[in-house]
Amino acid sequence: MDNLKIAIIGQGIIGVSSALAILEKYPNAQVTIFGDRSFEETCSYGPSGHFEVDRDVYKDWAKASFLKFAEIYRDHNPDVTGVKLISNFHISDTLEKLQNLERCTKEFVYNLHWLEEREIKAIFSQPKKYCLFFTAYASEGKKYVPWLKEKCVQKGAKFLAEEVDVIINCAGSYAGKLAGDDEVIPVKGVALEVYAPWHKHTYDYDCHTYAMPMGETVFIGTTRKVNCHSTKITDEERQDIMSRYEEFHPAMKNAKVVGEWCGIRGERAAGICRLESQKRTLISGKQYQVIHNYGHGGYGFILHWGCALKVIELLGC
Ligand SMILES: Cc1cc2nc3c(=O)[nH]c(=O)nc-3n(C[C@H](O)[C@H](O)[C@H](O)COP(=O)(O)OP(=O)(O)OC[C@H]3O[C@@H](n4cnc5c(N)ncnc54)[C@H](O)[C@@H]3O)c2cc1C
Repeated sequence: MDNLKIAIIGQGIIGVSSALAILEKYPNAQVTIFGDRSFEETCSYGPSGHFEVDRDVYKDWAKASFLKFAEIYRDHNPDVTGVKLISNFHISDTLEKLQNLERCTKEFVYNLHWLEEREIKAIFSQPKKYCLFFTAYASEGKKYVPWLKEKCVQKGAKFLAEEVDVIINCAGSYAGKLAGDDEVIPVKGVALEVYAPWHKHTYDYDCHTYAMPMGETVFIGTTRKVNCHSTKITDEERQDIMSRYEEFHPAMKNAKVVGEWCGIRGERAAGICRLESQKRTLISGKQYQVIHNYGHGGYGFILHWGCALKVIELLGC
């Protein structure tokens, strides 16, 4: 396993974390990572990477990512890595949504508790019945992925093609095309970056409208436009995001929008990402392995390290 030649298709969070996990475990592996566009054009460039996981099937991978974040946050400068520790308020009238979040995160996030009614009323202008609080790591895509990439390069990863033994499919919203899997749906997401240096917590309303501090600015999201591969942001989307957030948080009215970003999430119709191994044979008779690691939808940063460890388990299977 140590000397395998491995090709990874995709230089986003999933491809780069798969590469690093392999190189940490097998330092002599020859890993080549392919991409077909600049990093700025991938879905991994813009996310604020807030930690919200509410599906039981993702719990273990999210936990592994969380523990990796803890290690990185302890040992490295957050200004460089983009990994930071942030308090999160999740507010909703639907108890079940927040209970799902509690069940899937309580084993590893910090300081998790339910807010009392008086606290909810004091903090929120549009109070809802329930508010779950916890402290968790967040990972800013535009810093975190280049940092992981640099680690891969230091460990010998290359960006050249060669005949390989293993191909790892981490091609995001295009991964289905490469795999012949028509279950992958592109889902457009838009977020705005607003100047608000005083806004220091993550607020999340109904697991859909949220604000996440990024230093001087706040990242406000988001939208879900299904079956859309266009990254052009419309005025309607801008207004929709801002008006939804302002309704919950009036102090943000007239805050200056200083940036915007659009990414295409690759989701699978079944709602669960694909982590699976296939054996294939070239016309020459040479056998090679394909490991699929795609379909993470809105959970790529939350799941990346857990999925990368799963890729290692699948190597050679
Ligand atoms: C608005 C928004 C907010 C988000 N917020 C969060 C968040 O808070 N937390 C979270 O966990 N997730 C979040 N996400 C989801 C997260 O961004 C994605 O899950 C993640 O970026 C997917 O990473 P990826 O590496 O699979 O795909 P991508 O980053 O899209 O990378 C795909 C790679 O495949 C390459 N590729 C594709 N086709 C080919 C080909 N034919 N040949 C060679 N290379 C190819 C591309 O060049 C690229 O390098 C958010 C998404 C959006 C849109």
